[in-house]
Amino acid sequence: MKKILLVLIIIAVGCYFYMTRNKVEEEKFIYQDILDNIIGSVDVNKYTIYGKHLNVEGDIKNPGDYTLVFKNNEEEKEIKTIIKDNHFATNEYINEGINLEKLNIGEYLFLLKDKANGKYYSLINKTPYHDNIYYTMTKNNKNNLITMKEEKKDNIEYWKMVIEEKSLPDEYYDVIIDPGHGGVDTGASNGSYHESKYTLEYAQKLYEELTNAGLKVKMTREKDEKIAHYGVGSRTGIPYEAKAKLMLSIHFNSSNGRANRGVEIYKAFNDNNTFAKVLADNLVNSTSSVYSNNTLHQVIDGVYMRVYSKSDIKGLANDAKKGGFEPYQLDENTTYYYFIRETGGINTKAFSDGRNPKYDANPYRNSNQGTEGYLCELAYISNKEDLKRILNEKEQFVEGLKKSVLQYVNE
Ligand SMILES: [Zn+2]
Repeated sequence: MKKILLVLIIIAVGCYFYMTRNKVEEEKFIYQDILDNIIGSVDVNKYTIYGKHLNVEGDIKNPGDYTLVFKNNEEEKEIKTIIKDNHFATNEYINEGINLEKLNIGEYLFLLKDKANGKYYSLINKTPYHDNIYYTMTKNNKNNLITMKEEKKDNIEYWKMVIEEKSLPDEYYDVIIDPGHGGVDTGASNGSYHESKYTLEYAQKLYEELTNAGLKVKMTREKDEKIAHYGVGSRTGIPYEAKAKLMLSIHFNSSNGRANRGVEIYKAFNDNNTFAKVLADNLVNSTSSVYSNNTLHQVIDGVYMRVYSKSDIKGLANDAKKGGFEPYQLDENTTYYYFIRETGGINTKAFSDGRNPKYDANPYRNSNQGTEGYLCELAYISNKEDLKRILNEKEQFVEGLKKSVLQYVNE
């Protein structure tokens, strides 16, 4: 009897060890092999999304040959990384960086790799922003949801990107079209021709074209009305609320000399020229128009950038003095047009906080996720030839804009 009991005990103990051994194998963490190769961490001190690009910057302890990677057990994708002294960055301009439209469905750890020894550093998010989500723009009626998660396993913190198919929530949009001016604000005029009438007509046509192309588009105004610049549901509020990637503001220009004519696309001061140039080129190629002959604020043919001048800054400082509030800390690298500046959040250094009673507060100014905005001065209403184009070439101008937006979505 005792012998049988002893055999049973031995069998039971044996089974226990066999089963727990299997259990340990089953529970081995999916990324354990990757985590085993993480030898330290680096701090991320900038983490923003502008349009379709993710921008990340941080510090490294020792200069070396590093690259950012997206890594899982099957693959490792190298990400363009700028290393300068003790600093790493995904981009130089805000509309560069990691193109979130191009990520494949899956799950990736976001790491910094030391190419010299093949080891990794985890990224520690030291910014006030955590757990961002991003919906890709609508392509073939489909969207992906990208979630950035900060996780921890055995005291190793790491950043994970999860990309899954998910349709765009009702309140989210791909593109915003802003018909400039409206209502009592008629914009520029030439006789009985008023800018605000044509910005709305053009915007409506573009809305139709882009919607037919499968994009989810929202207009800042749908009728002849004056709309608020700041706040919920406003011209600058809508892009944030809609989590839109791209926003085009449609305008027609005016000059005293009447000799100025042609296309001008305005961008943020820290944008590269790429997409502004796409817009200018497509507009010039689709119409009988030309690049503007105006050289003020010009960067290259058709591409313009206006920043606060010394006298603009002085004017705002005087407002502050008179109004008894702290002046804004502005410099000549501040984008002038509120529409471009205030829709990009911290990317474009949005600053309207309401201290100046002349301008309302932008409640979204500290957002780390912003819309890539361009102000499109399609033609000069004050110029005789351009006015003819405005009246006769709506389809052609809209074609140029549509082509550009589709390029933005697909590239
Ligand atoms: Zn205008």
